[in-house]
Amino acid sequence: ETIREKVPVTAIPGDGIGREVMAAVRQVLDAAGARIAWEEALAGAEAFRKGIATGAPQETLDSIARTGVALKGPLETPVGYGEKSANVTLRKIFEMYGNVRPVRELPGIHTPFGGRGIDFVVVRENVEDVYAGIEHMQTPSVAQCLKLITEVGCERIVRLAAAVAEAEGRKKVTVATKANIMKLTEGMMKRVGEQVLKDYPSLTPEHMIVDNCAHQMVIRPEQFDVTVMTNMNGDILSDLAAGLVGGLGVAPSANLGDHVAMFEAVHGSAPQIAGKGIANPTALLLSALMMLRHIGDFATARKVEHALYVTLEEGRDLTGDIAPEGEGAPTQAFVERIIANLGRES
Ligand code: NAD
Repeated sequence: ETIREKVPVTAIPGDGIGREVMAAVRQVLDAAGARIAWEEALAGAEAFRKGIATGAPQETLDSIARTGVALKGPLETPVGYGEKSANVTLRKIFEMYGNVRPVRELPGIHTPFGGRGIDFVVVRENVEDVYAGIEHMQTPSVAQCLKLITEVGCERIVRLAAAVAEAEGRKKVTVATKANIMKLTEGMMKRVGEQVLKDYPSLTPEHMIVDNCAHQMVIRPEQFDVTVMTNMNGDILSDLAAGLVGGLGVAPSANLGDHVAMFEAVHGSAPQIAGKGIANPTALLLSALMMLRHIGDFATARKVEHALYVTLEEGRDLTGDIAPEGEGAPTQAFVERIIANLGRES
């Protein structure tokens, strides 16, 4: 095999269990021979405590701007340091408008929805909608929040969904909206979605009212392939979808902009279990697999994914959140099982 150049990637361990799951993931990737030059960077609670009001120091922003790729642990907003969230800072500075969450059944993870072949992707618009934070009091007893939707925003998120579908060989893109009620804002997403998807003849376009989409995700989740939604609908339905296949310990995501891609677990810093060495690193490891594929290292991604799947299926040394009642193992024992399984052929 020819020796490939190492790809620079910014690693932000973050807060709480972030440090533990980041260390675990880096151990696995190093053992698998991933050619990555890690640039470790600070963000989150420690940055706030150092007096950095945005929660993300300039060196961290410079690193991400340089590498264009980051693997990130959860960041918390410590109480007493203003209202700013370091996550929002990063998302806004790098205009990461797309949040991509794969929803796939994993071997060995038992859920009420198991065995149905759930395998879809939720693509959520990440910067517009009611999350633009434009709120005010109309009178002392009437609050108003503006829902901001643009054609540009709709077009780029639907094109992202189509690109995800094409890249993964998927067939259908479901645009889920509340266009029946909010005819201008949600209606714009529906209309732009229908228009844009005409450019992708290999994909079957579909529109679904978002409340029915929630219902369909629970009663027949296997029908979905790629779904795309405005910010708040996507926020709610992507969490619902994560719950279908095992929940926070195993839910990965990617935040995508035109110049930067940032991969992270869906979960937060889990302060109750931080420092105990028992956090599940699977969600961040699955996020790292998305990152490896993003940088073109498909071989290492496949190898690590296989080792993870074998380990989950064997069911030994699983962390407490996914192990049978009373059988949780330390993060490190789980990591060592995965590493031991790296060499195994499928
Ligand atoms: P959380 O995800 O941290 O925890 C929710 C529950 O899931 C807890 O019981 C926790 O122990 C468990 N859990 C989460 N991840 C786990 C893992 N890998 N292994 C085992 N168990 C796990 O949610 P929260 O308690 O609402 O938030 C805690 C902090 O994290 C808050 O400050 C919040 O703002 C922050 N947060 C950050 C992000 C992010 O950076 N993307 C996302 C969500 C929450």
